[in-house]
Parts: sequence; structure tokens; C-alpha cells
Amino acid sequence: MPNTSRHTAHVASGLMWFRRDLRAFDNAALYHALKSCTHVHCVFVFDRAILDKLPRQDRRVEFIRESLVTLDAELHAMAGQAGAGLIVRHAVAADEVPRLAKELGVQEVFANHDDEPEALARDAQVRGALANAGIGFQTYKDHVIFERSEVLTQMGKPYGVFTPYKNAWLQKINPYFLRSYPVGKYIKALASRPKAYQTSVPTLADLGFEPTNLSTLHVPTGSPGGLALFEDFFDRMDRYDETRNFPAVKGPSYLSVHLRFGTVSIRQLASTAYQRMLTGSAGAEVWLSELIWRDFYHQILHHHPRVVNAAFKPEYDAIKWAHNKHDKEQFAAWCEGRTGYPLVDAAMAQINQTGYMHNRLRMVVASFLVKDIGIDWRWGEQYFAQHLNDFDLAANNGGWQWASSSGCDAQPYFRIFNPTSQSEKFDPEGKFIRRYVPALAKLPNAAIHAPWLAKPLELESAGLVLGRDYPKPIVDHAQARTETLERYAVVKKVK
Ligand code: FAD
Repeated sequence: MPNTSRHTAHVASGLMWFRRDLRAFDNAALYHALKSCTHVHCVFVFDRAILDKLPRQDRRVEFIRESLVTLDAELHAMAGQAGAGLIVRHAVAADEVPRLAKELGVQEVFANHDDEPEALARDAQVRGALANAGIGFQTYKDHVIFERSEVLTQMGKPYGVFTPYKNAWLQKINPYFLRSYPVGKYIKALASRPKAYQTSVPTLADLGFEPTNLSTLHVPTGSPGGLALFEDFFDRMDRYDETRNFPAVKGPSYLSVHLRFGTVSIRQLASTAYQRMLTGSAGAEVWLSELIWRDFYHQILHHHPRVVNAAFKPEYDAIKWAHNKHDKEQFAAWCEGRTGYPLVDAAMAQINQTGYMHNRLRMVVASFLVKDIGIDWRWGEQYFAQHLNDFDLAANNGGWQWASSSGCDAQPYFRIFNPTSQSEKFDPEGKFIRRYVPALAKLPNAAIHAPWLAKPLELESAGLVLGRDYPKPIVDHAQARTETLERYAVVKKVK
């Protein structure tokens, strides 16, 4: 089986620590734990180091909580014995995992890699505490197909440009890397939980959280939810290349939250797309390419953790971003979908109402924030981090640095999306806009992309008064474009 950990000698008992891999099938660390131990306990920790900083309503906490209920039931059913299942704790993970490992008397703790800088720091702390108690800590690649330094240039350097990375990725891929981990083969090792831990998954209220609209949005949770979405996407995959850019069309897979929390297996998705690509499916080829972007940004974060706070291309940190009171008001208008640019406002309504945003729209709103309002991309990155169900540090940072042109393989700084022509091109009938900005619903297609240019009669028959029912544009795009080019001119001087 593909893994990056050293061989583990057979040990009496182990603890499987679930983090961003909430599934009981095709899970690298779980497989290795079951294979190398006679007794395996399983734990998930609602980490107070993360949770205590969140607002009391958070769709991700609810998604995780619902997914754990399923994981617990799956482990219980697979073990086929009373008392088996998931131990769920609400504590500081860095303290709780070593404490629990000692209490359970295990010899090894098993987990899958999480390469975000804070997770690595936490794992280093856990590793140290476990080592002090004579307990090992085994970690495995699970979240991506190729991680860290697995795909390097011929000079042994990490790639900074996507296309050659993708070519090398495709060159290296073979059935070995796509094979699933047959967890069921060693399932006998799943242990019963000690009596004190035979409790059900805490409720949201137990965790100090309130319900969100996740269930009314019908976001399917857990591995059955991930599988259902994948099956639903299966028949659409061949047309993905044609449909993926139109937010009103059911084009993409909507699997990002499941990829984020590991309720789907990346190997299952990539191997399906790969096989289909080999049969000539253009849609599968483009979709696989998106999964490769995901690997690409993960290896960028691994090799360049400084991107969390700084521009990938350092000269872009010389840019003077707008940050006076007026800019803060414009930032608030962006956050709340009040910019007067319908596609931008509809997209912001989508993220605010659902926690999801279509990829095309992520590019449009990010470009608008950075290149029309002149706000530091990190403000937008932070807003997405708080609101996206699928928030993933590597992909989010990569996406924002791409839009601001400061990233590896980003779009050139002089390429500035026109929010009106993006709207005309990708939501030609205004279907998406009408769904999320009902005030504009009655405008004719020709007027919906730029209501400030609509004829007075069109506004009147749509029952729309600009400035009252819907804002006038907060910036003039042509003028903003000129200002942005001036702002970015500093980059050329620094180079
Ligand atoms: P699909 O189109 O079905 O794609 C399948 C999967 O491929 C996605 O679920 C995702 O895991 C991966 N993927 C697709 N596009 C990208 C990409 N450009 N970079 C990396 N992985 C990709 N994606 C996140 O998962 N989390 C984020 O926090 C995130 N923030 C972003 C911020 C910005 C500014 C931009 C431009 C993009 C961001 N993306 C992020 C990438 C992309 O927009 C989402 O992955 C995608 O919209 C999720 O929808 P889907 O699952 O239907 O995607």
C-alpha cells in the first residue's frame, strides 16, 4: 500500500486519531493501525484550541458533528461487537491525545498527515508528549495523491508552475498510488471502548454551538453523503469541461467539503477520473486536473509555509493596499453583497447563505476585492476562511494569491476581470443573479448585469429604484482598473 511512514512492528494496542479523514473505508492510518495492532481504539477530538475561537454558529462544526455520528455507527457496525465505536472528546487535542493514549495503555498512536503549519506544530507537541511516555506516533499520507516532495523537478526542486507539475504528476501516477486501503481486511482488531467512553457523539449544544441552516440546505454529511454526491456527479463528469464555469448550472461536483474533511477518499475520486480520462472523456480530464491543483497547492504550502502570511512572490508585498475608513466601508459592502455589481453580490450572497461559492465566482469576487476596491487579498482570504464550508488553507491561500497575482503561477497583474463582462459571459440569462439577488429578478436579461445602465422604463417596470432597492456601483470599474495598474506598478520597480 502507498504510504510514507516507516514500518511498524506488530504491537498490542494502538489509538487511531481521526482529524481530516472522517471515514472508515480506504483510510491509510486506520488501515495501518488495524494491520499492526491487535487492539485499536479510535478517537476524534473537538479541539478547543480551534473551536473556542469560532462564532457559536458554524456550519463546519455541524458538518463534522453529523459526520462523526455516521463514523461512529460505521465503526460500531464494522467491529460487530457491543461497545465498539468512536471515542469523542471535547478538549485541547495536543493535551488530550497523549492523555488518552496513556490512559488506554496503547503503544502507538496513528494519524494521517495534516500539513497546515498549526497542525504540524500541534502534531510536534503531541509527538513529544507521547515520546515522553514511551508511545510512538505513526503518520501517513492520506489526504492527497502526492504530497510534500513526492513530485519534484528534475533538479529536485518543488514545482512553482502548475502545468509542468501536472505533467510530472500524470507521468508518475500509476495504480499503486490510486489503490485503496482495504480497511475491512483487519477489522477484527477494532476494540471495544472502555465503559466510560461508551457515550454518544456530543450534541452541538454539548459543544456550546447552535444549529446552522446546514440541514435545510440539504448538505449531505458523512461518507454516505460524500458517496451520494459523487454518484450524482458521476454522470455529469463527462460534461464538466463544458459546464463547470456557469454558476447557474449544476456543473461541478460540490465535493469540496467532503474532500476537506475526508468523508470521501481522494484515491477513489482520482482513480475514477483517471480511468475515465483514459477512455477519452474530456470532462474527466479537466476534473482530474482540478484534483491535481489541490495536490499542487498542498505541496506549495508544504514547501513555502511563509505564503500563509506573505506573498509567494515577495515583490508583491511592496503594494500599498487601500485601508482607510472609506475602504473599510467598501470591504463591508463586498462582504455583505452590496457592491452594486450583480454577479459579485449574488456570489457573496451564496457564500453567506450557504457556505459554498462556485469556483468561477470565487475568482470574480476575489479579483473585484483586490483589483476593483484595492483591498489587501488577505482580508478576503480571511473572510473566506471564516465562511467557506470547504475552507482549506492551501487551496484558499493559493486561490487568493492567484487572484491578486502575487502567487505562484498566478494570473498576470494587468489581467483584471471586468465584473460585468464576466457576468454576461458566465450567467448570460442572469439565472444565478436572480436566485441570490431577488431585488433584480424582474430586470430583463440585457439589463441585469449592469442595472445602473438600465433604461428608466426597464427599472420602473422591474419595480426597482437604484440606491433604494439595490445599490449603485461602489466603484467605477474603468477608473478602478487604472488605479490598480498604478498600484501594481511598484511590483515592476521592486523586481
Ligand atoms: P469541483 O469543480 O467539482 O472540483 C473538484 C475538487 O477539486 C474540489 O472539490 C477541490 O477539492 C479541487 N479543486 C477544484 N479547483 C481547485 C483549485 N483551484 N485549487 C485547489 N483545489 C481545487 N477550494 C477549497 O477546497 N477550499 C478553499 O478554501 C478554496 N478557496 C478558494 C479561494 C479562491 C479565491 C479561489 C479562486 C478558489 C478556491 N478554492 C478552494 C478552489 C475551488 O474554488 C473550490 O475547490 C471549488 O469551487 C469547490 O467546488 P466543487 O467541489 O464543486 O469543485
